[in-house]
Amino acid sequence: MSSVQDELRRLPAVDQIMLQAPAADWIQVYGRDAVIEAIRATLDALRGDIRRGAAYPGEADLLRRVQDRLEQLVAPTLRPVINATGVVLHTNLGRAPLSTDALEAMRQAGEGYTNLEFDLDSGRRGSRYVHAEALLCRLTGAEAALLVNNNAGAVLLVLSALAQGRQVIISRGQLVEIGGGFRIPDVMAQSGAHLVEVGTTNRTYVRDYATAITDETAALMRVHTSNFRVMGFTYAPSLSEFVALAAEHNLLLLDDLGSGTLIDTQPFGLTHEPTVQESVAQGADVVTFSGDKLLGGPQAGIIVGKAELIERLRRFPLTRALRVDKTTIAGIQANLLHYVKGEAVSKIPIWQMIALSLDELAARAKKLVDALGPAGAGCALWPGRSMIGGGSLPEESLPTMLVALPGDDSTALAQSLRTGQPAIVARIQDERVVLDLRTVLPSQEEALIARLRQLL
Ligand SMILES: *Cc1c(COP(=O)(O)O)cnc(C)c1O
Repeated sequence: MSSVQDELRRLPAVDQIMLQAPAADWIQVYGRDAVIEAIRATLDALRGDIRRGAAYPGEADLLRRVQDRLEQLVAPTLRPVINATGVVLHTNLGRAPLSTDALEAMRQAGEGYTNLEFDLDSGRRGSRYVHAEALLCRLTGAEAALLVNNNAGAVLLVLSALAQGRQVIISRGQLVEIGGGFRIPDVMAQSGAHLVEVGTTNRTYVRDYATAITDETAALMRVHTSNFRVMGFTYAPSLSEFVALAAEHNLLLLDDLGSGTLIDTQPFGLTHEPTVQESVAQGADVVTFSGDKLLGGPQAGIIVGKAELIERLRRFPLTRALRVDKTTIAGIQANLLHYVKGEAVSKIPIWQMIALSLDELAARAKKLVDALGPAGAGCALWPGRSMIGGGSLPEESLPTMLVALPGDDSTALAQSLRTGQPAIVARIQDERVVLDLRTVLPSQEEALIARLRQLL
Protein backbone atom coordinates (compact mmCIF):
# COMPACT_ATOMS: atom_id res chain seq x y z
CA MET A 1 0.00 0.00 0.00
CA SER A 2 2.64 2.45 1.10
CA SER A 3 4.52 1.94 -2.16
CA VAL A 4 1.47 3.20 -4.07
CA GLN A 5 1.44 6.31 -1.89
CA ASP A 6 5.17 6.76 -2.50
CA GLU A 7 4.75 6.48 -6.22
CA LEU A 8 1.85 8.94 -6.19
CA ARG A 9 3.97 11.43 -4.24
CA ARG A 10 6.57 11.34 -7.02
CA LEU A 11 4.09 12.87 -9.50
CA PRO A 12 4.99 16.53 -10.05
CA ALA A 13 2.41 19.30 -9.63
CA VAL A 14 0.90 21.06 -12.65
CA ASP A 15 2.84 24.25 -11.83
CA GLN A 16 6.11 22.37 -11.74
CA ILE A 17 5.51 20.92 -15.20
CA MET A 18 4.60 24.37 -16.49
CA LEU A 19 8.10 25.50 -15.54
CA GLN A 20 9.78 22.78 -17.60
CA ALA A 21 11.47 23.66 -20.88
CA PRO A 22 8.87 22.22 -23.31
CA ALA A 23 5.96 24.03 -21.65
CA ALA A 24 6.89 27.43 -23.10
CA ASP A 25 6.89 25.95 -26.61
CA TRP A 26 3.60 24.18 -26.01
CA ILE A 27 1.98 27.41 -24.85
CA GLN A 28 3.16 29.08 -28.08
CA VAL A 29 1.60 26.38 -30.24
CA TYR A 30 -1.52 25.30 -28.34
CA GLY A 31 -2.29 28.14 -25.89
CA ARG A 32 -1.99 28.13 -22.08
CA ASP A 33 -5.42 26.64 -21.28
CA ALA A 34 -4.93 23.64 -23.53
CA VAL A 35 -1.50 22.94 -22.00
CA ILE A 36 -2.90 22.99 -18.45
CA GLU A 37 -5.79 20.76 -19.53
CA ALA A 38 -3.40 18.27 -21.13
CA ILE A 39 -1.12 18.19 -18.06
CA ARG A 40 -4.07 17.63 -15.71
CA ALA A 41 -5.46 14.86 -17.87
CA THR A 42 -2.04 13.19 -18.12
CA LEU A 43 -1.56 13.33 -14.35
CA ASP A 44 -5.05 11.92 -13.78
CA ALA A 45 -4.32 9.03 -16.09
CA LEU A 46 -0.99 8.35 -14.37
CA ARG A 47 -2.63 8.38 -10.95
CA GLY A 48 -5.01 5.72 -12.18
CA ASP A 49 -2.14 3.62 -13.55
CA ILE A 50 -0.22 3.88 -10.28
CA ARG A 51 -3.26 2.85 -8.23
CA ARG A 52 -3.50 -0.21 -10.46
CA GLY A 53 0.09 -1.07 -9.56
CA ALA A 54 2.22 0.76 -12.13
CA ALA A 55 5.35 2.69 -11.16
CA TYR A 56 5.85 6.40 -11.85
CA PRO A 57 7.40 6.34 -15.34
CA GLY A 58 9.70 9.32 -14.81
CA GLU A 59 9.62 12.90 -15.97
CA ALA A 60 10.76 12.38 -19.55
CA ASP A 61 7.96 9.90 -20.12
CA LEU A 62 5.42 12.18 -18.46
CA LEU A 63 6.40 15.10 -20.69
CA ARG A 64 6.10 12.87 -23.76
CA ARG A 65 2.59 11.86 -22.71
CA VAL A 66 1.57 15.50 -22.31
CA GLN A 67 2.97 16.21 -25.77
CA ASP A 68 0.97 13.29 -27.25
CA ARG A 69 -2.19 14.54 -25.60
CA LEU A 70 -1.69 18.05 -26.98
CA GLU A 71 -1.16 16.65 -30.46
CA GLN A 72 -4.35 14.63 -30.16
CA LEU A 73 -6.21 17.70 -28.98
CA VAL A 74 -5.66 19.48 -32.29
CA ALA A 75 -5.31 16.48 -34.59
CA PRO A 76 -7.73 16.87 -37.52
CA THR A 77 -10.45 14.23 -37.32
CA LEU A 78 -10.79 14.05 -41.11
CA ARG A 79 -7.67 12.61 -42.65
CA PRO A 80 -6.54 10.69 -45.70
CA VAL A 81 -7.10 6.94 -45.78
CA ILE A 82 -5.71 4.25 -48.06
CA ASN A 83 -8.72 2.39 -49.44
CA ALA A 84 -7.62 -1.22 -49.90
CA THR A 85 -11.19 -2.56 -49.84
CA GLY A 86 -11.58 -2.63 -53.62
CA VAL A 87 -14.90 -0.77 -53.30
CA VAL A 88 -14.41 1.99 -55.87
CA LEU A 89 -17.15 4.37 -54.70
CA HIS A 90 -16.93 3.76 -50.97
CA THR A 91 -19.43 6.20 -49.45
CA ASN A 92 -17.92 5.89 -45.97
CA LEU A 93 -14.48 6.64 -47.39
CA GLY A 94 -15.63 9.73 -49.27
CA ARG A 95 -16.71 8.32 -52.66
CA ALA A 96 -14.73 9.59 -55.66
CA PRO A 97 -11.05 10.58 -55.44
CA LEU A 98 -10.61 13.60 -57.72
CA SER A 99 -8.56 14.05 -60.87
CA THR A 100 -5.43 16.21 -60.90
CA ASP A 101 -7.17 18.77 -63.10
CA ALA A 102 -10.21 18.95 -60.82
CA LEU A 103 -7.98 19.44 -57.79
CA GLU A 104 -5.97 22.14 -59.53
CA ALA A 105 -9.14 23.96 -60.55
CA MET A 106 -10.42 23.78 -56.97
CA ARG A 107 -7.11 25.07 -55.66
CA GLN A 108 -7.17 28.03 -58.03
CA ALA A 109 -10.77 28.89 -57.17
CA GLY A 110 -10.05 28.62 -53.47
CA GLU A 111 -6.84 30.56 -53.54
CA GLY A 112 -8.20 33.82 -54.85
CA TYR A 113 -11.33 35.53 -56.09
CA THR A 114 -13.56 34.28 -58.89
CA ASN A 115 -16.43 35.62 -60.98
CA LEU A 116 -18.75 33.37 -58.95
CA GLU A 117 -21.63 35.84 -59.00
CA PHE A 118 -20.22 38.54 -61.21
CA ASP A 119 -20.77 39.11 -64.91
CA LEU A 120 -17.40 40.16 -66.26
CA ASP A 121 -18.91 41.53 -69.54
CA SER A 122 -21.40 43.89 -67.98
CA GLY A 123 -19.59 44.46 -64.69
CA ARG A 124 -22.83 43.66 -62.87
CA ARG A 125 -23.97 41.03 -60.48
CA GLY A 126 -24.19 37.60 -62.09
CA SER A 127 -25.54 34.21 -61.05
CA ARG A 128 -23.59 31.35 -59.54
CA TYR A 129 -26.11 29.02 -61.12
CA VAL A 130 -24.88 29.58 -64.68
CA HIS A 131 -21.50 27.96 -64.14
CA ALA A 132 -20.96 24.52 -65.63
CA GLU A 133 -24.38 24.79 -67.29
CA ALA A 134 -23.08 24.93 -70.85
CA LEU A 135 -20.83 21.93 -70.25
CA LEU A 136 -23.68 19.93 -68.74
CA CYS A 137 -26.02 20.80 -71.60
CA ARG A 138 -23.40 19.85 -74.17
CA LEU A 139 -22.73 16.50 -72.49
CA THR A 140 -26.30 15.49 -71.70
CA GLY A 141 -28.28 17.16 -74.49
CA ALA A 142 -30.47 18.94 -71.91
CA GLU A 143 -31.77 22.50 -72.39
CA ALA A 144 -30.64 23.70 -68.97
CA ALA A 145 -28.83 22.58 -65.84
CA LEU A 146 -28.47 23.50 -62.17
CA LEU A 147 -25.94 22.45 -59.54
CA VAL A 148 -26.81 21.96 -55.88
CA ASN A 149 -25.06 20.54 -52.86
CA ASN A 150 -25.85 16.85 -53.36
CA ASN A 151 -28.37 14.64 -55.11
CA ALA A 152 -30.53 14.22 -52.01
CA GLY A 153 -30.86 18.01 -52.07
CA ALA A 154 -31.57 17.94 -55.81
CA VAL A 155 -34.48 15.51 -55.34
CA LEU A 156 -35.86 17.51 -52.41
CA LEU A 157 -35.64 20.72 -54.43
CA VAL A 158 -37.27 19.27 -57.53
CA LEU A 159 -40.19 17.83 -55.56
CA SER A 160 -40.61 20.98 -53.46
CA ALA A 161 -40.49 23.41 -56.35
CA LEU A 162 -42.50 21.43 -58.87
CA ALA A 163 -44.95 19.31 -56.87
CA GLN A 164 -45.54 20.87 -53.44
CA GLY A 165 -49.12 20.26 -52.28
CA ARG A 166 -49.78 18.01 -55.27
CA GLN A 167 -49.47 14.32 -56.00
CA VAL A 168 -46.47 12.46 -57.36
CA ILE A 169 -47.00 8.89 -58.53
CA ILE A 170 -44.24 6.38 -57.94
CA SER A 171 -43.93 2.61 -58.09
CA ARG A 172 -43.77 0.64 -54.82
CA GLY A 173 -40.70 -1.03 -56.26
CA GLN A 174 -38.89 2.32 -56.30
CA LEU A 175 -39.58 3.63 -52.78
CA VAL A 176 -35.94 3.09 -51.99
CA GLU A 177 -33.60 3.94 -49.16
CA ILE A 178 -30.31 5.14 -50.55
CA GLY A 179 -28.29 5.06 -47.34
CA GLY A 180 -27.50 7.61 -44.69
CA GLY A 181 -31.23 7.83 -43.94
CA PHE A 182 -32.22 9.09 -47.39
CA ARG A 183 -35.58 7.46 -48.11
CA ILE A 184 -37.67 8.50 -51.05
CA PRO A 185 -40.99 8.51 -49.08
CA ASP A 186 -39.42 10.69 -46.35
CA VAL A 187 -37.95 13.13 -48.84
CA MET A 188 -41.32 13.27 -50.56
CA ALA A 189 -43.01 14.09 -47.23
CA GLN A 190 -40.38 16.72 -46.48
CA SER A 191 -40.98 18.39 -49.83
CA GLY A 192 -44.72 18.72 -49.25
CA ALA A 193 -45.52 16.60 -52.29
CA HIS A 194 -48.05 13.82 -51.75
CA LEU A 195 -46.78 10.36 -52.50
CA VAL A 196 -49.10 8.08 -54.43
CA GLU A 197 -47.77 4.53 -54.44
CA VAL A 198 -48.73 2.21 -57.25
CA GLY A 199 -47.98 -1.35 -58.34
CA THR A 200 -46.14 -3.92 -56.28
CA THR A 201 -42.56 -4.38 -55.16
CA ASN A 202 -41.65 -6.45 -58.19
CA ARG A 203 -44.09 -5.40 -60.92
CA THR A 204 -45.62 -2.07 -61.86
CA TYR A 205 -47.34 -1.49 -65.21
CA VAL A 206 -48.16 1.66 -67.16
CA ARG A 207 -51.84 1.07 -66.38
CA ASP A 208 -51.07 1.22 -62.63
CA TYR A 209 -49.79 4.74 -63.12
CA ALA A 210 -52.59 5.66 -65.52
CA THR A 211 -55.41 4.69 -63.14
CA ALA A 212 -53.82 6.65 -60.27
CA ILE A 213 -53.75 9.96 -62.18
CA THR A 214 -56.14 12.60 -60.81
CA ASP A 215 -56.59 16.39 -61.09
CA GLU A 216 -54.18 16.65 -58.18
CA THR A 217 -51.34 14.84 -59.93
CA ALA A 218 -48.29 16.95 -60.72
CA ALA A 219 -45.78 14.35 -61.81
CA LEU A 220 -44.78 10.77 -62.40
CA MET A 221 -41.47 9.87 -60.84
CA ARG A 222 -38.97 7.17 -61.66
CA VAL A 223 -36.26 6.38 -59.14
CA HIS A 224 -33.35 4.29 -60.29
CA THR A 225 -32.99 1.38 -57.86
CA SER A 226 -29.31 2.05 -57.78
CA ASN A 227 -28.21 0.12 -54.70
CA PHE A 228 -30.17 -3.12 -54.93
CA ARG A 229 -31.62 -5.35 -57.58
CA VAL A 230 -34.96 -7.13 -57.71
CA MET A 231 -34.58 -10.28 -59.70
CA GLY A 232 -36.89 -12.83 -61.20
CA PHE A 233 -40.53 -11.97 -61.93
CA THR A 234 -40.17 -8.20 -62.35
CA TYR A 235 -41.54 -5.50 -64.58
CA ALA A 236 -41.22 -1.74 -64.84
CA PRO A 237 -42.24 0.38 -67.82
CA SER A 238 -39.55 1.79 -70.08
CA LEU A 239 -38.76 5.47 -69.80
CA SER A 240 -40.41 6.18 -73.15
CA GLU A 241 -43.67 4.60 -71.95
CA PHE A 242 -43.52 6.90 -68.92
CA VAL A 243 -42.87 9.89 -71.12
CA ALA A 244 -45.81 9.07 -73.35
CA LEU A 245 -48.17 8.70 -70.39
CA ALA A 246 -46.94 11.91 -68.75
CA ALA A 247 -47.34 13.83 -72.01
CA GLU A 248 -50.85 12.48 -72.57
CA HIS A 249 -51.95 13.82 -69.17
CA ASN A 250 -49.82 16.94 -69.21
CA LEU A 251 -47.75 15.78 -66.26
CA LEU A 252 -44.07 16.15 -65.48
CA LEU A 253 -41.76 13.18 -65.69
CA LEU A 254 -39.08 13.28 -62.98
CA ASP A 255 -36.19 10.85 -63.27
CA ASP A 256 -33.85 10.35 -60.30
CA LEU A 257 -30.89 8.44 -61.69
CA GLY A 258 -28.68 8.60 -58.62
CA SER A 259 -25.41 7.32 -60.02
CA GLY A 260 -25.78 9.27 -63.25
CA THR A 261 -23.14 7.97 -65.58
CA LEU A 262 -22.21 9.82 -68.75
CA ILE A 263 -20.37 6.88 -70.26
CA ASP A 264 -21.49 3.35 -71.01
CA THR A 265 -20.52 0.89 -68.29
CA GLN A 266 -20.79 -2.21 -70.51
CA PRO A 267 -17.31 -2.10 -72.11
CA PHE A 268 -15.90 -2.51 -68.57
CA GLY A 269 -17.65 -5.85 -68.10
CA LEU A 270 -20.50 -4.32 -66.07
CA THR A 271 -24.22 -4.31 -66.81
CA HIS A 272 -25.68 -1.27 -68.49
CA GLU A 273 -26.20 1.61 -66.09
CA PRO A 274 -28.77 4.10 -67.46
CA THR A 275 -26.95 7.19 -68.77
CA VAL A 276 -28.06 10.77 -68.31
CA GLN A 277 -28.07 11.28 -72.08
CA GLU A 278 -30.56 8.42 -72.50
CA SER A 279 -32.96 9.94 -69.97
CA VAL A 280 -32.78 13.35 -71.61
CA ALA A 281 -33.11 11.94 -75.13
CA GLN A 282 -36.14 9.87 -74.17
CA GLY A 283 -37.86 13.00 -72.91
CA ALA A 284 -37.60 13.09 -69.10
CA ASP A 285 -38.49 16.63 -67.99
CA VAL A 286 -36.06 16.73 -65.08
CA VAL A 287 -33.16 14.34 -64.37
CA THR A 288 -31.24 14.30 -61.09
CA PHE A 289 -27.90 12.60 -60.29
CA SER A 290 -24.83 12.80 -58.07
CA GLY A 291 -21.58 14.55 -58.92
CA ASP A 292 -19.51 12.11 -56.86
CA LYS A 293 -20.79 8.69 -57.90
CA LEU A 294 -20.06 7.43 -61.42
CA LEU A 295 -19.34 10.99 -62.56
CA GLY A 296 -16.20 10.78 -60.42
CA GLY A 297 -16.14 14.42 -59.32
CA PRO A 298 -16.71 16.42 -56.13
CA GLN A 299 -19.88 16.04 -54.05
CA ALA A 300 -22.78 17.72 -55.82
CA GLY A 301 -26.32 17.22 -57.00
CA ILE A 302 -26.86 17.84 -60.68
CA ILE A 303 -30.23 18.68 -62.17
CA VAL A 304 -30.70 18.80 -65.93
CA GLY A 305 -33.89 19.26 -67.92
CA LYS A 306 -36.32 21.59 -69.65
CA ALA A 307 -35.28 25.24 -69.50
CA GLU A 308 -38.56 26.54 -68.12
CA LEU A 309 -38.50 24.02 -65.22
CA ILE A 310 -34.85 24.64 -64.36
CA GLU A 311 -35.65 28.37 -64.29
CA ARG A 312 -38.42 27.69 -61.74
CA LEU A 313 -35.94 25.72 -59.63
CA ARG A 314 -33.42 28.59 -59.77
CA ARG A 315 -35.99 31.01 -58.40
CA PHE A 316 -37.27 28.68 -55.66
CA PRO A 317 -36.10 29.82 -52.18
CA LEU A 318 -34.81 26.39 -51.10
CA THR A 319 -32.16 26.62 -53.85
CA ARG A 320 -30.35 29.22 -51.75
CA ALA A 321 -30.02 26.70 -48.91
CA LEU A 322 -28.55 24.07 -51.22
CA ARG A 323 -26.09 26.21 -53.07
CA VAL A 324 -22.67 24.94 -54.07
CA ASP A 325 -19.48 26.79 -53.24
CA LYS A 326 -16.90 28.10 -55.70
CA THR A 327 -14.40 25.29 -55.21
CA THR A 328 -17.06 22.66 -55.92
CA ILE A 329 -18.15 24.45 -59.08
CA ALA A 330 -14.53 24.66 -60.21
CA GLY A 331 -14.01 20.95 -59.56
CA ILE A 332 -17.18 19.97 -61.36
CA GLN A 333 -16.27 22.06 -64.42
CA ALA A 334 -12.82 20.50 -64.63
CA ASN A 335 -14.26 17.02 -64.16
CA LEU A 336 -16.90 17.58 -66.87
CA LEU A 337 -14.19 18.79 -69.20
CA HIS A 338 -12.61 15.32 -69.06
CA TYR A 339 -15.84 13.96 -70.58
CA VAL A 340 -16.01 16.72 -73.20
CA LYS A 341 -12.44 15.92 -74.27
CA GLY A 342 -13.11 12.16 -74.33
CA GLU A 343 -10.45 11.51 -71.70
CA ALA A 344 -12.67 10.45 -68.78
CA VAL A 345 -11.30 6.92 -68.60
CA SER A 346 -7.67 8.03 -68.67
CA LYS A 347 -7.97 11.04 -66.34
CA ILE A 348 -10.75 10.41 -63.80
CA PRO A 349 -9.52 8.18 -60.96
CA ILE A 350 -12.70 6.09 -60.55
CA TRP A 351 -12.73 5.23 -64.26
CA GLN A 352 -9.01 4.46 -64.19
CA MET A 353 -9.73 2.07 -61.32
CA ILE A 354 -12.74 0.50 -63.03
CA ALA A 355 -10.72 0.06 -66.23
CA LEU A 356 -7.80 -1.78 -64.56
CA SER A 357 -7.45 -5.27 -66.01
CA LEU A 358 -6.94 -8.43 -63.98
CA ASP A 359 -3.44 -8.75 -65.49
CA GLU A 360 -2.48 -5.25 -64.35
CA LEU A 361 -3.86 -5.89 -60.88
CA ALA A 362 -2.10 -9.25 -60.60
CA ALA A 363 1.20 -7.63 -61.61
CA ARG A 364 0.74 -4.88 -59.01
CA ALA A 365 -0.15 -7.41 -56.31
CA LYS A 366 2.94 -9.49 -57.10
CA LYS A 367 5.14 -6.38 -57.10
CA LEU A 368 3.79 -5.40 -53.69
CA VAL A 369 4.52 -8.82 -52.19
CA ASP A 370 8.04 -8.79 -53.71
CA ALA A 371 8.66 -5.32 -52.29
CA LEU A 372 7.83 -6.60 -48.82
CA GLY A 373 10.91 -8.83 -48.94
CA PRO A 374 11.07 -11.43 -46.16
CA ALA A 375 7.99 -9.85 -44.55
CA GLY A 376 6.04 -10.86 -47.64
CA ALA A 377 6.78 -14.56 -47.15
CA GLY A 378 3.41 -15.41 -45.62
CA CYS A 379 1.40 -13.42 -48.17
CA ALA A 380 -0.74 -15.15 -50.76
CA LEU A 381 -2.31 -13.94 -53.99
CA TRP A 382 -6.01 -14.77 -54.18
CA PRO A 383 -8.33 -14.17 -57.13
CA GLY A 384 -11.27 -12.08 -55.90
CA ARG A 385 -13.82 -9.41 -56.84
CA SER A 386 -13.83 -5.61 -56.54
CA MET A 387 -17.16 -3.82 -56.05
CA ILE A 388 -18.31 -0.56 -57.62
CA GLY A 389 -20.26 0.49 -54.52
CA GLY A 390 -21.60 3.94 -53.62
CA GLY A 391 -25.14 3.05 -54.58
CA SER A 392 -24.08 2.21 -58.11
CA LEU A 393 -24.31 -1.03 -60.02
CA PRO A 394 -25.59 -3.28 -57.21
CA GLU A 395 -24.16 -6.79 -57.15
CA GLU A 396 -21.79 -5.80 -59.91
CA SER A 397 -18.19 -6.70 -59.42
CA LEU A 398 -14.95 -6.85 -61.37
CA PRO A 399 -12.27 -9.57 -61.21
CA THR A 400 -9.23 -8.62 -59.15
CA MET A 401 -6.15 -10.11 -57.47
CA LEU A 402 -6.13 -9.84 -53.68
CA VAL A 403 -3.09 -9.83 -51.44
CA ALA A 404 -3.95 -12.02 -48.43
CA LEU A 405 -1.80 -11.06 -45.45
CA PRO A 406 -0.42 -13.65 -43.04
CA GLY A 407 -1.53 -13.84 -39.40
CA ASP A 408 -4.00 -15.71 -37.22
CA ASP A 409 -5.76 -12.71 -35.72
CA SER A 410 -7.18 -10.93 -38.75
CA THR A 411 -9.43 -8.67 -36.64
CA ALA A 412 -6.43 -7.33 -34.72
CA LEU A 413 -4.35 -6.91 -37.88
CA ALA A 414 -7.16 -5.04 -39.64
CA GLN A 415 -7.47 -2.75 -36.63
CA SER A 416 -3.72 -2.05 -36.57
CA LEU A 417 -3.92 -1.15 -40.24
CA ARG A 418 -6.86 1.20 -39.65
CA THR A 419 -5.45 2.97 -36.62
CA GLY A 420 -1.85 3.33 -37.84
CA GLN A 421 -0.24 6.04 -39.90
CA PRO A 422 -1.29 6.11 -42.72
CA ALA A 423 -4.73 4.65 -41.98
CA ILE A 424 -5.34 1.63 -44.20
CA VAL A 425 -8.81 0.14 -44.61
CA ALA A 426 -8.74 -3.48 -45.75
CA ARG A 427 -11.25 -6.33 -45.99
CA ILE A 428 -11.41 -9.62 -44.17
CA GLN A 429 -12.12 -12.66 -46.29
CA ASP A 430 -11.86 -16.31 -45.25
CA GLU A 431 -10.31 -15.23 -41.95
CA ARG A 432 -7.45 -13.38 -43.63
CA VAL A 433 -6.92 -9.66 -44.08
CA VAL A 434 -6.99 -9.01 -47.83
CA LEU A 435 -5.87 -5.94 -49.78
CA ASP A 436 -7.37 -5.05 -53.16
CA LEU A 437 -4.97 -2.73 -54.99
CA ARG A 438 -7.64 -1.58 -57.48
CA THR A 439 -8.60 1.25 -55.12
CA VAL A 440 -5.12 2.03 -53.82
CA LEU A 441 -3.80 5.08 -55.66
CA PRO A 442 -0.37 4.42 -57.25
CA SER A 443 0.96 7.38 -55.23
CA GLN A 444 -0.04 5.59 -51.99
CA GLU A 445 1.68 2.29 -52.74
CA GLU A 446 5.03 3.21 -51.20
CA ALA A 447 3.45 4.27 -47.90
CA LEU A 448 1.35 1.09 -47.90
CA ILE A 449 4.46 -1.07 -48.36
CA ALA A 450 6.36 0.78 -45.62
CA ARG A 451 3.50 0.27 -43.16
CA LEU A 452 3.12 -3.42 -44.06
CA ARG A 453 6.86 -3.94 -43.52
CA GLN A 454 6.47 -2.53 -40.00
CA LEU A 455 3.49 -4.72 -39.19
CA LEU A 456 4.40 -8.10 -40.67
C1 LIG B 1 -27.27 8.18 -54.21
C2 LIG B 1 -28.63 8.48 -54.60
C3 LIG B 1 -29.29 9.62 -54.11
C4 LIG B 1 -28.63 10.56 -53.14
O1 LIG B 1 -27.54 11.17 -53.72
P1 LIG B 1 -26.42 11.89 -52.83
O2 LIG B 1 -25.47 12.46 -53.81
O3 LIG B 1 -25.84 10.83 -51.96
O4 LIG B 1 -27.10 12.94 -52.02
C5 LIG B 1 -30.58 9.85 -54.52
N1 LIG B 1 -31.20 9.02 -55.38
C6 LIG B 1 -30.62 7.91 -55.88
C7 LIG B 1 -31.37 7.02 -56.82
C8 LIG B 1 -29.31 7.60 -55.50
O5 LIG B 1 -28.71 6.50 -55.99
